Amino acid sequence: VYDNHHQSPSPTDTACDTEILVVGAGVSGIGMAIKLKEHGFNDFIVLEKAGEVGGTWRDHTYPGLTVDIPCLTFSYSFEPRPDWSSIWAPQREVLDYLQHCARKYDVYPHIRFREEVADATFDAERGVWSTSVRGGRTYTSRYLINASGYFTIARMPDIPGLAEFQGEVVHSWRWRDDLEFGTKRVAFIGTGATGIQLAPELAPVAERLHVFQRTPIWLLPKPALKLRPSLQRLFASVPALQRIARWLVFAVMDLGYYPVYTHYERAKGVSAVLQKISHRHIRKQVRDRTLQDKLTPDYAYGCKRPSFSNDFYAMFNRPNVELVTESIARIERDAIVTTDGQRRPVDVIICATGYAPFDKDSLPTYPVYGKDGTDLREYWDTHRYQAFRGFTVHGYPNFFLIFGPYTILGTSYFAMVEVAVRQILRCLTAARGRGANYIEVTPKAQEEEFRAIRARKPHNLVVTPNCATSNTYYIDRFGDTPGFRPWLHPKTWLHSRLLRMSNFELRQHRVLPSQTPVETRPRVSEEVAP
Ligand SMILES: Cc1cc2nc3c(=O)[nH]c(=O)nc-3n(C[C@H](O)[C@H](O)[C@H](O)COP(=O)(O)OP(=O)(O)OC[C@H]3O[C@@H](n4cnc5c(N)ncnc54)[C@H](O)[C@@H]3O)c2cc1C
Repeated sequence: VYDNHHQSPSPTDTACDTEILVVGAGVSGIGMAIKLKEHGFNDFIVLEKAGEVGGTWRDHTYPGLTVDIPCLTFSYSFEPRPDWSSIWAPQREVLDYLQHCARKYDVYPHIRFREEVADATFDAERGVWSTSVRGGRTYTSRYLINASGYFTIARMPDIPGLAEFQGEVVHSWRWRDDLEFGTKRVAFIGTGATGIQLAPELAPVAERLHVFQRTPIWLLPKPALKLRPSLQRLFASVPALQRIARWLVFAVMDLGYYPVYTHYERAKGVSAVLQKISHRHIRKQVRDRTLQDKLTPDYAYGCKRPSFSNDFYAMFNRPNVELVTESIARIERDAIVTTDGQRRPVDVIICATGYAPFDKDSLPTYPVYGKDGTDLREYWDTHRYQAFRGFTVHGYPNFFLIFGPYTILGTSYFAMVEVAVRQILRCLTAARGRGANYIEVTPKAQEEEFRAIRARKPHNLVVTPNCATSNTYYIDRFGDTPGFRPWLHPKTWLHSRLLRMSNFELRQHRVLPSQTPVETRPRVSEEVAP
C-alpha cells in the first residue's frame, strides 16, 4: 500500500519532452490527470483529439441519452455530486460534471486539444516513448498512459446498398440537431442500449418510424427517481449519507447481479428472476400478443447489455411505429427492402448499431509499438486479449492502459477507472522511490493471471448455451469475454491495493545495443497522414 501524497513535484526528465503522456481526456484521462497531480507528478501532458474534455459524454448528444446505471455510482469517489437531477442523469449533466472536475483540479493547463495521436513507439535504446500526432509533432515521454476509451469505433450496419441511399444516414454517435422529423419516414436500425433510449424520442415526432430489430433486448421498468431538492441539500450537507447510498447501490450491482458473469452456476436464479420481471414488463406495456412475442428475447437475461426503460416497448402501441423483425436484404436509393420482399420507402436512416470495442483497431485507437516493434493490437491478435491486472502488458515497458482487457467491474465505469489509476500510480511511485525509470510486468505474472482468467471463463453466463442466440458483443473473435473481470469488486480492489512490485522488472534504464533501431519500423503517421 502506498502513500505518496507529500512528494515534491517531479523533476523534469531531461531525456524527454514530458515525463508522462496521457492520451485522451474522458472519464479515464481526467481521473488519471487529477491523481497524477495529487501524487506530485506534475510533469505530464494530456493529448486530446477533440476541442473539449468529456469523451463519450461530449460526443454523444442524441435525444434521450442518460446514464443507464444509477448515477450515485457514476462519479469519482473523491468528487461526489449531490445535485444530480435524477438517478438517471442526462448526458449534459455528466458532461458538466466532467468539465467541473477538470476545472476544479486544474487539469485544463495540462491538456493539448486537437492533437490526435497517430502512433506510439518505445525507443528501447533511450527507454522513452515517442508519440506522434497526426499532421503534427512528436512527443517523447518516459511513460505513456492510454485513456483513449473503448467505445471508439462506431459500427455501421453492413447492408448492401447503404452507400447509395439518397436520404440522410445518421449514426447515434454523431447526432445532428438540425434533423427535422415531422414529415419524415424514418428507418431505425438497432435495439440495443442506445436504440432503446433514442427511438422512443423519435416515435412521437416522426411521421413514420420503422424499427428494425435483429435481436430483442430485455428491459426492466425504469423507476423514475428524481433527486428532489431536499435530498440534494441533505447529500450536500451530510456527504456521508451520499457515500452510504453509493455503497448500497454498488453492493446491489456487484454482489447482487455481477455474479452472473463470475459465478453463473450459483447466480442463475438472479438472471431468471430479472428475466421474469422483464417479461412481465413486456406484457404490461404492449397490447398486441404477436408484438409481445416478437419483442421477447429467446436468450437469458444478461447475455447482452440489459437496460431500463418505460417507453421503448410501449412505443410499439403507436399507430405510426412499426416493429420489423425480418432481416434487411438491401437498401435502395429511397427504401429498405427486407428478406420477405417488402419494400418500405424511407427518408432517413438512423443507425443505433453500437460499437466494436474488441475489434482490432479499437483498443487503443492507434498503433503502440513495444520494445520488439510489435504493435500491441497485433500482439493481441495473435495472443488473444490479455494484460496483467488489465493495465499493463509484457513487452510494453512504461506503458499503461486505463481500460485494458478484463477490466469491466460490476460497479461503475468510474470505479473501474479508479482501480486502474491506483495501479498505475503504484508503479510510478515505486519507480520513483527506487530511482528507476523502466518498469515492465514479468511474463510469468501476466501468464499466471491469464491462466486464472481462462479458468474462470466457463463460469460466465455469456459463454453458456443460454446466450447462443444473443449476438452479444461481450464475446470477441476468439470466443473470449475480454470485457469482464471474472472476480467481484472487493477482490479487484484488494488486488489493486496490494499490487506487488515483485510482478515487475523495475530498474534504471540502460542502453540495449541488440535492439532494432526504432527508425526502421513503419510509422502509421507517415503511411496515412491526412
Ligand atoms: C452512448 C454511451 C452511453 C454510455 N453510458 C454508460 C453508462 O450509463 N454507464 C457506464 O458505466 N458506462 C457507460 N458508457 C461507457 C462509457 O464509455 C464510459 O462511461 C466512459 O465515458 C468512458 O470513458 P473513457 O475516458 O475511458 O473513454 P472516452 O469517453 O471514449 O474518452 C476517450 C477520449 O480519448 C480521446 N481519444 C481517443 N483516441 C485518441 C487519439 N488517438 N488521440 C487523442 N485523443 C484520443 C477521445 O476524443 C475521448 O475524448 C456509455 C458509452 C456510450 C458510448
